Amino acid sequence: MNVKLLDLKKQYQSLKPELDEAILKVAESQYFILGPEVANLENNIAEFLGAKKAVGVSSGTDALLLALMAIDIKPGDEVIVPTYSFFATAGVVARLNATPVFVDIDPVSFNIDPELIEAKITSRTKAIIPVHLYGQSADMAPIMEIAEKYNLKVIEDGAQAISVQYKDGRSVGTIGTVGCYSFFPSKNLGGYGDGGMVVTMDEELGEKMRILRVHGSEPKYYHSMIGGNFRLDAIQSAVLNVKLPHLNEWSAKRRDNAQLYTKLFIEAGIAEEEGRVKFDENNKVLLPKAVYKDSGLTNYHIYNQYVIRVENRDELREFLKENGIASEIYYPVPFHKQECFKDLPSSKDKYPNADFAADHSLALPIFPELEREEIEYVAGKITEFLKS
Ligand SMILES: *Cc1c(COP(=O)(O)O)cnc(C)c1O
Repeated sequence: MNVKLLDLKKQYQSLKPELDEAILKVAESQYFILGPEVANLENNIAEFLGAKKAVGVSSGTDALLLALMAIDIKPGDEVIVPTYSFFATAGVVARLNATPVFVDIDPVSFNIDPELIEAKITSRTKAIIPVHLYGQSADMAPIMEIAEKYNLKVIEDGAQAISVQYKDGRSVGTIGTVGCYSFFPSKNLGGYGDGGMVVTMDEELGEKMRILRVHGSEPKYYHSMIGGNFRLDAIQSAVLNVKLPHLNEWSAKRRDNAQLYTKLFIEAGIAEEEGRVKFDENNKVLLPKAVYKDSGLTNYHIYNQYVIRVENRDELREFLKENGIASEIYYPVPFHKQECFKDLPSSKDKYPNADFAADHSLALPIFPELEREEIEYVAGKITEFLKS
């Protein structure tokens, strides 16, 4: 059996008539960049998330960059980021000649450990970027408390977590100063190319980001600020407007798939419960835990990824590949070990939980259209490998 990590063709087939029509409509309108489709998407997303203002941008990376520009991050400023995330989270900080300052993750949630943040704050610290990794919220309450105490801005990296709720019911991205999303095709809400969005509860800051998106031009050709080209395409927005109403059903299927994996691993006797952080005889696979599952909220986790940890990760990955099963490592190298960040002061510190995750993590197929038989096959092969 062949199991892909992500099969977007199935989703396209299920919405083909609507998607084709939406794309053709843009071609007929010849309105390709910004315009009514983008404005529609911004309104739809703002309403969906409960945000005051949403601004469509060119990618998730540009959403983060624009947010940092809007809060005036300058050369020499320090911005706190988890050391374990997609590169963009730290890359955007360095691109503004500011300094990313790394913090270790919590071993259960994979998200930034709030207890380790204060020790990294200096007089130059301006902001914190919590990442809602794999599709569940970072622990925002203590992060916001620290931000208030030290007068820091909070830029939420929600690229993997659009629609996710924190335990208080608020959508991630609407808790901090700015929320950033990606519509890269493999995200839970994916376009047919690059795209992203920033959202905020601060109308004034939202307006500033709208202007910075077009080179800081307001009115046209008059610049009181220096922005960039961070514009979103109409075709991406048209696709996303068709897909958005289906996001919650897809998330529900991802949760079902995650629960099935967990049940199968426990029944097979290779795991006892979710959220273990140490290997032993009865826990040969460490299962991801939905930390806010008992909050009673629907979108406590949207499983952009279902990430297990195993001791012989690279061998397991090879064994799965031989058996037709795709998997991926998110992420093999934490920021503090990246060549381009090796001279940063905080790269010298210790990050045991991020190192452990980098060495043992493996993401399994989890997309909504997966068949039960496929999940059983994947879990069966993993069990076979770990028991041999
Ligand atoms: C995907 C991703 C990004 C970047 O989004 P792009 O649209 O690919 O630029 C940023 N942060 C995280 C955590 C991501 O997963």
